Amino acid sequence: MIPFNKPYMTGRELWYIAQAHAAGQLAGDGAFTLKCHAWLEARTGAHKALLTHSCTAALEMAAVLANLQPGDEVIMPSYTFVSTANAFVLRGAVPVFVDIRADTLNIDETRIEAAITERTRAIVPVHYAGVACEMDTIMDIARRHGLVVIEDAAQGIMSAYKGRPLGSIGDLGALSFHETKNIISGEGGALLVNNTGFAERAEIIREKGTNRARFFRGQVDKYTWIDVGSSYLPSELVAAFLYAQMEEAETITRQRLATWNSYHQWFAEIENKGAVRRPVVPAHCSHNAHMYYLLLPGLEQRGTFIEELRKNGIQSVFHYVPLDRAPCGQRVGRVHGELTNTWDLSDRLVRLPLWIGVDEHQPGIVQAVIAAALLKQAS
Ligand SMILES: *Cc1c(COP(=O)(O)O)cnc(C)c1O
Repeated sequence: MIPFNKPYMTGRELWYIAQAHAAGQLAGDGAFTLKCHAWLEARTGAHKALLTHSCTAALEMAAVLANLQPGDEVIMPSYTFVSTANAFVLRGAVPVFVDIRADTLNIDETRIEAAITERTRAIVPVHYAGVACEMDTIMDIARRHGLVVIEDAAQGIMSAYKGRPLGSIGDLGALSFHETKNIISGEGGALLVNNTGFAERAEIIREKGTNRARFFRGQVDKYTWIDVGSSYLPSELVAAFLYAQMEEAETITRQRLATWNSYHQWFAEIENKGAVRRPVVPAHCSHNAHMYYLLLPGLEQRGTFIEELRKNGIQSVFHYVPLDRAPCGQRVGRVHGELTNTWDLSDRLVRLPLWIGVDEHQPGIVQAVIAAALLKQAS
């Protein structure tokens, strides 16, 4: 079976882990963590980057930083991963779901303003497939209404909006290094702090609510409990692994883009025949080839398509179950307006295998995809 994801190793991960081990430095915020922070800050232009255990953890930190109180509202798409909502629900906040755009599957920025109430505190744009949301419009709405913008850039490392790296545009940005993402450490993530007003408190929340980071920099002579917080920093072993990946980020992105572009060219013809719709990347967005997906005509065709590929030894997957339709989403969330695109597109989307090394299987995958897509059209 050709898997839909296969984690890529650069070859230096174990060597760096061995170095961390030899240095006797295993807890967080050691030399490798600092290298990762410096890389992220240089790469994204963020004021401060902080490694976390996951993007979920970075979103939870953002929810604490935004000072969300029970009943506060956070506007986000329903078409996203559960963590986008969970992080805020943990603070007692209410996710308010608005529809997505039909082209990029990102939050429809023209629907945000009407969803704002006096309880609204934040907007969480999710950059689906590493393709940017309309950040100029979103930032303008947020400034006019005094809202915090937290980018869920879990899929967005090495992508940009009008030349600005994803995660570096909102007040805060959250990245993921989960093994299904482009740059990985098994589990892993980072919080990007762009609004300098959040920087000091972000360090404190990440270190169990203490000023331990300032103590280690010699800025205070003892450290103590000064705020709420948790343990959000990963071990040096994780950072060592991650740094090896960061060093190869350009190569990884280039190779993924080559695979993505080749799928895209191959499927132009079946799109012209009306059998599928290919991903849309607006001209002002540069993307990282996080995923290649196709939109089939309907739910039933998608089921047959996935089954046909499976018979050919190819794994393809779908996601997401819109959060407003999930049991927890129905209990804790609220929907604003119609979610027509969300429900329609989530029934029709399928993701194809995209990983470094899949190229040798690509001709076979392309052939099977074209056959399965045209089969659906015939039936
Ligand atoms: C992967 C993902 C997350 C969660 O990332 P973790 O690092 O696994 O916590 C959150 N949001 C989106 C959009 C994702 O794709």
